[in-house]
Amino acid sequence: MKRSCARQKVIAWAGWRQPWAKARDRRGRKFELAHCRFPIARPAFQSEISSLNHKKRLLLFDIDGTLINSAGAGVQALRDVLRDQFGITDDLDGIEIAGRTDSGIVHQILGKLKIEPNEKNTARFLEKYVELLPMELPRRAGRVLPGVKELLSRLSACPHIVLALLTGNVERGAKLKLEHYGLWHFFEFGAFADDHHDRNELGAFARRRARAKHGVEFESATIDVIGDTPHDIACGKAIGARTIAVATGSFSREQLQAHEPDWILEDFAEVETVIEKLGW
Ligand SMILES: [Mg+2]
Repeated sequence: MKRSCARQKVIAWAGWRQPWAKARDRRGRKFELAHCRFPIARPAFQSEISSLNHKKRLLLFDIDGTLINSAGAGVQALRDVLRDQFGITDDLDGIEIAGRTDSGIVHQILGKLKIEPNEKNTARFLEKYVELLPMELPRRAGRVLPGVKELLSRLSACPHIVLALLTGNVERGAKLKLEHYGLWHFFEFGAFADDHHDRNELGAFARRRARAKHGVEFESATIDVIGDTPHDIACGKAIGARTIAVATGSFSREQLQAHEPDWILEDFAEVETVIEKLGW
């Protein structure tokens, strides 16, 4: 049988043990809170159950360095576009990529190469990029990061969890990457670089889509933004969300800590611990 998420366990346990004052074990001894798997004082416990019953939680995941490592497929596809479309060979040194949106990255590249970073050139660049990306993905020894598939599988079975993306990828690029690694089907919707070149603006798009899909307003306190860079932390803070940094990308735990996320994880390998710690 599939193991249930933390919330399902809490609620199942509460229903089994209520009413509290009369709870007894099989031998008729009074049940003590200390025996409980979730040793939470009664008033807080009840209010937690009440709030969980009424609120869905929106989890907004970054892609590169958080869910997958494409082993440089995306960067190589960018280089390929420069070669094929602009006749330029460039190693993209000096271009900030991690945590940036695709459109923001293209603006940087065009600026570096003294090409007008207008809408036409940006669109032409990104159009070619999503054409070349599917050829690069299988050439690279990329991988799904530790625990990610099991974590998403577990969370997608929880009715109070809404899984969505908040990524700097354009939507077609995100779909190509996540389909290649078998993760696309876990996500209901997303906010992408197509929406805005500034990552800090993307949270509002994700929130609007969540409301349209689920018919409820997701308050800041019910949103988690999960990513591997300081830019993910910043864009989560921009909407007042809880920020969860994971040190599986190009930033160390110490580097991420300097940006004061609410949580830092080494990775998602210990799926059960992650779910319980974060209250998912
Ligand atoms: Mg990332």
